[in-house]
Amino acid sequence: MESTLNRTWAEINLDALAHNYQVLRDRMGRQARFLGVIKADAYGHGAVQTARTLAELGCEYLAVSNIDEARELRLAGVELPILQLGLTPTDQTDEILKNQVTQTIWSEEAARAFSQAAVRAGGRMKVHVKLDTGMSRLGFSCDEAHFTASLGAIRRVCALPGLDAEGVFTHFAVSDEPGQDSRDYTLLQHDRFETMLRRLEEHGVSFRLRHCANSGAAVQYTQFAHDMFRPGIIMYGISHLAEGLGLRPMMTVKSVIGAVRDFCPGTAVSYGRTFHVDRASRLGVLPIGYADGLHRVLSNQWRVWTPQGTAPIVGRICMDMCMIDLTDLPGAGDGDVVEVYGPHNSVNDAADLAGTISYELTCAISKRVPRIYFRGGREIARELLLRG
Ligand SMILES: *Cc1c(COP(=O)(O)O)cnc(C)c1O
Repeated sequence: MESTLNRTWAEINLDALAHNYQVLRDRMGRQARFLGVIKADAYGHGAVQTARTLAELGCEYLAVSNIDEARELRLAGVELPILQLGLTPTDQTDEILKNQVTQTIWSEEAARAFSQAAVRAGGRMKVHVKLDTGMSRLGFSCDEAHFTASLGAIRRVCALPGLDAEGVFTHFAVSDEPGQDSRDYTLLQHDRFETMLRRLEEHGVSFRLRHCANSGAAVQYTQFAHDMFRPGIIMYGISHLAEGLGLRPMMTVKSVIGAVRDFCPGTAVSYGRTFHVDRASRLGVLPIGYADGLHRVLSNQWRVWTPQGTAPIVGRICMDMCMIDLTDLPGAGDGDVVEVYGPHNSVNDAADLAGTISYELTCAISKRVPRIYFRGGREIARELLLRG
């Protein structure tokens, strides 16, 4: 671990998480529960430390995408309820029961398989029924053509032995987008959600936890809080929506300048010779490349922040390194720490340049980049995800 420091690392600010948590709690009303979405290793921030901090803050529920992510949390001693959001093979029932995971139910067929397996194992599986109101991914279709069939299926699912239907939820496709068309679609999705809940109630089927609000809804549709809200990206303080609420980015990716050298005008830089210096230049090498998660598409586009100013990345980003132009920053040199993403150099802007979303860039920060956790300005833990 020591050897990988002074190369490239990610500082994870748990105080920023606490700040973001409080802002979101206040925003959604104190009666709604907080479900922290920490799938994909908490979007690259580290699921265990994020979960522990959320538990201390008073968060009531967590969500992951699969059983291995849930097990990691249980092994680390996290006791909060965990909702498993993704497609789950029904032969994982024993593990689901053993780890006390709440399972998403996306179809009657899956529900029957989980029910039978739970009964066989002598257990009772907590489940949340997923409604497809317009995402067209998982869930019981709630459009007009399928409404009645889904109503019947959900009623049968909720009566199955071995299952405890604690919750019901849906997921929005465009709640984070501006514009009237997105607004109309989100309202339509929410309308389908409420209509199904109402019809189920008329048949005596009700749920203790109804939830639909992802980050987009927590920012643009606070009236959709229901019993619980489910933020991911804004909890980490990233995305343009988070900026608008004054949320703080948890992750700062840092690297260190090395091998600073002078180059003559016309010199080609890196693979493919996509960049030529057009003047006498001073270039530095950074020990971060696409294998660390700095996407190659950011070559000749992104920049790093130094206390002296920003330095553009020049030439193609390599697997383990990239080059930056320090010509205009005479004060910057060997051994200086730079910010690749962070409060001075927003990953949101990098995502715009890369033609993607910030989620993809933080998830991509790879296992060889150590995560260093800070609380109260002090380092409290280090994690490296490499084997051995
Ligand atoms: C990932 C996910 C979320 C969180 O989405 P954000 O846009 O990060 O807030 C919420 N609900 C479900 C079902 C998800 O899959």
